[in-house]
Amino acid sequence: MTNRIAYKTPTESFNARTVRQGECLLWAGAVKETGYGAMWDGERVVRPHRWIYEQANGPIPEGADIDHVCGNRVCCEISHLRVTTRKQNMENLTHVNANSSTGVRGVHKNTKGGKPWRVRVKHNYVEYNGGYYDSLEEAETAAIELRNKLFTHNDADRKAA
Ligand SMILES: [Zn+2]
Repeated sequence: MTNRIAYKTPTESFNARTVRQGECLLWAGAVKETGYGAMWDGERVVRPHRWIYEQANGPIPEGADIDHVCGNRVCCEISHLRVTTRKQNMENLTHVNANSSTGVRGVHKNTKGGKPWRVRVKHNYVEYNGGYYDSLEEAETAAIELRNKLFTHNDADRKAA
Protein backbone atom coordinates (compact mmCIF):
# COMPACT_ATOMS: atom_id res chain seq x y z
CA MET A 1 0.00 0.00 0.00
CA THR A 2 2.99 2.25 -0.37
CA ASN A 3 1.42 3.75 -3.49
CA ARG A 4 -1.49 5.10 -1.52
CA ILE A 5 -0.21 8.65 -1.32
CA ALA A 6 1.52 8.75 -4.67
CA TYR A 7 -1.63 9.32 -6.74
CA LYS A 8 -4.15 12.12 -6.39
CA THR A 9 -7.16 10.15 -7.58
CA PRO A 10 -8.04 6.47 -7.99
CA THR A 11 -8.30 7.06 -11.74
CA GLU A 12 -4.78 8.45 -11.86
CA SER A 13 -3.58 5.49 -9.79
CA PHE A 14 -5.36 3.03 -12.06
CA ASN A 15 -4.08 4.58 -15.29
CA ALA A 16 -0.53 4.74 -14.00
CA ARG A 17 -0.47 1.07 -13.10
CA THR A 18 -2.16 -0.67 -16.00
CA VAL A 19 -0.40 -1.85 -19.13
CA ARG A 20 -1.99 -2.75 -22.45
CA GLN A 21 -0.93 -6.20 -23.58
CA GLY A 22 -2.72 -7.42 -26.68
CA GLU A 23 -6.44 -7.54 -25.92
CA CYS A 24 -5.84 -7.34 -22.19
CA LEU A 25 -5.26 -4.37 -19.92
CA LEU A 26 -2.99 -5.79 -17.25
CA TRP A 27 -2.65 -4.53 -13.72
CA ALA A 28 1.03 -3.84 -13.06
CA GLY A 29 0.68 -2.66 -9.47
CA ALA A 30 0.54 -4.64 -6.24
CA VAL A 31 -0.82 -8.18 -6.47
CA LYS A 32 -2.05 -10.19 -3.52
CA GLU A 33 -1.57 -13.90 -2.83
CA THR A 34 -4.98 -14.50 -4.33
CA GLY A 35 -3.53 -13.47 -7.69
CA TYR A 36 -5.70 -10.36 -7.83
CA GLY A 37 -4.42 -6.80 -7.92
CA ALA A 38 -4.85 -4.40 -5.02
CA MET A 39 -5.38 -0.67 -5.25
CA TRP A 40 -6.51 2.14 -2.98
CA ASP A 41 -9.77 3.76 -4.08
CA GLY A 42 -9.54 6.68 -1.66
CA GLU A 43 -11.35 4.85 1.14
CA ARG A 44 -10.20 1.27 1.11
CA VAL A 45 -8.16 -1.35 -0.69
CA VAL A 46 -10.08 -2.74 -3.65
CA ARG A 47 -9.43 -5.06 -6.53
CA PRO A 48 -8.66 -2.97 -9.59
CA HIS A 49 -10.76 -5.09 -11.94
CA ARG A 50 -13.78 -4.68 -9.66
CA TRP A 51 -13.10 -0.98 -9.33
CA ILE A 52 -12.88 -0.36 -13.08
CA TYR A 53 -15.94 -2.53 -13.67
CA GLU A 54 -17.92 -0.33 -11.30
CA GLN A 55 -16.62 2.83 -12.96
CA ALA A 56 -18.04 1.57 -16.25
CA ASN A 57 -21.14 -0.31 -15.13
CA GLY A 58 -22.13 0.95 -11.71
CA PRO A 59 -22.11 -1.04 -8.47
CA ILE A 60 -21.54 -4.80 -8.63
CA PRO A 61 -24.58 -6.63 -7.24
CA GLU A 62 -24.05 -7.74 -3.67
CA GLY A 63 -22.52 -11.19 -3.44
CA ALA A 64 -21.62 -11.30 -7.13
CA ASP A 65 -18.13 -12.00 -8.36
CA ILE A 66 -16.42 -10.54 -11.40
CA ASP A 67 -15.16 -13.18 -13.77
CA HIS A 68 -12.35 -12.68 -16.24
CA VAL A 69 -13.41 -13.89 -19.65
CA CYS A 70 -9.73 -14.07 -20.69
CA GLY A 71 -8.82 -16.05 -17.55
CA ASN A 72 -6.25 -13.53 -16.42
CA ARG A 73 -6.89 -12.39 -12.86
CA VAL A 74 -4.91 -9.18 -13.24
CA CYS A 75 -6.70 -8.15 -16.45
CA CYS A 76 -8.69 -4.92 -16.10
CA GLU A 77 -10.02 -4.70 -19.65
CA ILE A 78 -13.70 -3.87 -19.20
CA SER A 79 -14.82 -6.00 -22.14
CA HIS A 80 -13.09 -9.01 -20.49
CA LEU A 81 -15.00 -8.64 -17.23
CA ARG A 82 -18.43 -10.03 -16.50
CA VAL A 83 -20.56 -10.54 -13.42
CA THR A 84 -21.02 -14.14 -12.41
CA THR A 85 -23.38 -15.62 -9.90
CA ARG A 86 -22.04 -17.67 -7.04
CA LYS A 87 -23.23 -20.85 -8.69
CA GLN A 88 -21.40 -20.09 -11.92
CA ASN A 89 -18.35 -19.15 -9.94
CA MET A 90 -18.37 -22.44 -8.06
CA GLU A 91 -18.63 -24.31 -11.32
CA ASN A 92 -15.67 -22.39 -12.68
CA LEU A 93 -13.46 -23.02 -9.67
CA THR A 94 -10.30 -24.76 -10.72
CA HIS A 95 -8.07 -24.08 -7.73
CA VAL A 96 -5.33 -26.58 -7.09
CA ASN A 97 -3.94 -27.30 -3.63
CA ALA A 98 -7.38 -26.82 -2.22
CA ASN A 99 -7.93 -27.96 1.33
CA SER A 100 -11.56 -27.02 1.77
CA SER A 101 -14.80 -27.77 0.04
CA THR A 102 -14.79 -24.41 -1.74
CA GLY A 103 -11.38 -24.83 -3.31
CA VAL A 104 -10.15 -21.76 -1.47
CA ARG A 105 -7.88 -22.09 1.54
CA GLY A 106 -9.63 -21.17 4.78
CA VAL A 107 -13.02 -20.65 3.12
CA HIS A 108 -15.85 -23.08 3.69
CA LYS A 109 -19.39 -23.35 2.47
CA ASN A 110 -21.84 -22.24 5.08
CA THR A 111 -24.69 -24.71 4.97
CA LYS A 112 -26.54 -23.35 7.99
CA GLY A 113 -28.26 -20.43 6.27
CA GLY A 114 -27.30 -16.78 6.04
CA LYS A 115 -24.26 -15.76 4.08
CA PRO A 116 -22.88 -18.56 1.92
CA TRP A 117 -19.15 -18.36 2.73
CA ARG A 118 -17.52 -18.91 6.07
CA VAL A 119 -13.89 -18.19 6.94
CA ARG A 120 -12.12 -20.50 9.40
CA VAL A 121 -8.41 -20.60 10.02
CA LYS A 122 -6.60 -23.13 12.18
CA HIS A 123 -3.57 -22.06 14.14
CA ASN A 124 -1.86 -24.10 16.86
CA TYR A 125 -4.80 -26.52 16.86
CA VAL A 126 -7.21 -23.69 17.61
CA GLU A 127 -9.84 -22.80 15.07
CA TYR A 128 -10.51 -19.10 14.52
CA ASN A 129 -13.75 -17.83 13.07
CA GLY A 130 -13.20 -15.22 10.38
CA GLY A 131 -16.85 -14.43 9.80
CA TYR A 132 -19.35 -14.91 7.02
CA TYR A 133 -19.33 -13.37 3.54
CA ASP A 134 -21.57 -12.89 0.55
CA SER A 135 -18.83 -13.23 -2.00
CA LEU A 136 -16.18 -15.89 -2.35
CA GLU A 137 -13.64 -13.21 -3.27
CA GLU A 138 -14.29 -11.30 -0.08
CA ALA A 139 -14.09 -14.48 1.96
CA GLU A 140 -10.77 -15.34 0.34
CA THR A 141 -9.38 -11.90 1.17
CA ALA A 142 -10.63 -12.20 4.76
CA ALA A 143 -9.01 -15.64 5.15
CA ILE A 144 -5.67 -14.25 4.01
CA GLU A 145 -5.93 -11.27 6.33
CA LEU A 146 -6.81 -13.54 9.25
CA ARG A 147 -3.84 -15.81 8.51
CA ASN A 148 -1.57 -12.79 8.34
CA LYS A 149 -2.83 -11.73 11.76
CA LEU A 150 -2.45 -15.17 13.34
CA PHE A 151 0.71 -16.46 11.74
CA THR A 152 3.82 -14.47 12.42
CA HIS A 153 5.82 -16.56 9.95
CA ASN A 154 3.25 -16.80 7.23
CA ASP A 155 5.63 -16.52 4.28
CA ALA A 156 3.31 -18.10 1.74
CA ASP A 157 0.81 -15.26 2.11
CA ARG A 158 3.29 -12.50 2.69
CA LYS A 159 5.69 -12.92 -0.19
CA ALA A 160 3.09 -11.87 -2.75
CA ALA A 161 1.17 -9.42 -0.56
ZN1 LIG B 1 -8.07 -9.77 -20.52
